[in-house]
Amino acid sequence: MLNLRYLALPLIRAAYKPLLVFSLLCVPYLYLCQMSYCSSLKGDSEHYKHLRYKMVEEQIAARGIDDENVLQAMRDVPRHLFVPKRKRGSAYGDFPLPIGYGQTISQPYIVALMTKLLDPERDDFALEVGTGSGYQAAVLSQIVRKVYTVEIIPPLGKAAEKRLKEVAYENITVKVGDGYYGWEEYAPFDCIIVTAASDHIPPPLIRQLKKGGKMAIPVGGPFQVQNLMLIEKSEEGEIQMKNILPVRFVPLRRK
Ligand code: SAH
Repeated sequence: MLNLRYLALPLIRAAYKPLLVFSLLCVPYLYLCQMSYCSSLKGDSEHYKHLRYKMVEEQIAARGIDDENVLQAMRDVPRHLFVPKRKRGSAYGDFPLPIGYGQTISQPYIVALMTKLLDPERDDFALEVGTGSGYQAAVLSQIVRKVYTVEIIPPLGKAAEKRLKEVAYENITVKVGDGYYGWEEYAPFDCIIVTAASDHIPPPLIRQLKKGGKMAIPVGGPFQVQNLMLIEKSEEGEIQMKNILPVRFVPLRRK
């Protein structure tokens, strides 16, 4: 017994310092590993987050968008998860990107601008025509109560639905169909956003806009200059239209 004590004590004394140093170094390291593992599970990381904050600063806030809800939504939604894998490196660039089937995810600034134009509020029900990747719907869903979104190309609609579920956006419902007709079942909407250009404003969308509601839509043919327009329906039901800026969108298709 005594012998053991004499043996163990110097051993513990000798090991005490290196063990202390080891645990001081290891615990924070293991903590960081676990953090980055958790965020990579959801497909996000500090690297992308940094790019996103930079994007908001340099491309959006710098161009005059100061609505904090919109800026925060753009900081929060992991845009790189909405572009094809091989394009992730350029997901936060100041341009639109192809998403397959001849379609594109809009430039970040345009997504932010259109969202801001809608003046979205917490309790709003929103309709999007042109789900595409699901990115615009995800951004809007951070601000409003519910987003209904319609996509005409079935594989794009299905992929967006799956992606939105994976990234856990629970207040978005996707439908494959012709968004020209809106989504009668859930109308009227406080906000409507159309992310494909039409040579006229679809009358069903005007009807499905709530009194006091707003719609952002690019208007113009595919080979002409299109205008991003803001449509407002007054409490009396009158329609007012405003040109916001020239844009280039893919065309609104018809079945
Ligand atoms: N909002 C998308 C970008 C969409 S690009 C995003 O954030 O990624 C425009 C989308 O509108 C395309 O996916 C295109 O297929 C879709 N589209 C075109 N015409 C449509 C229609 N009539 N109804 C629904 N979607 C339509």
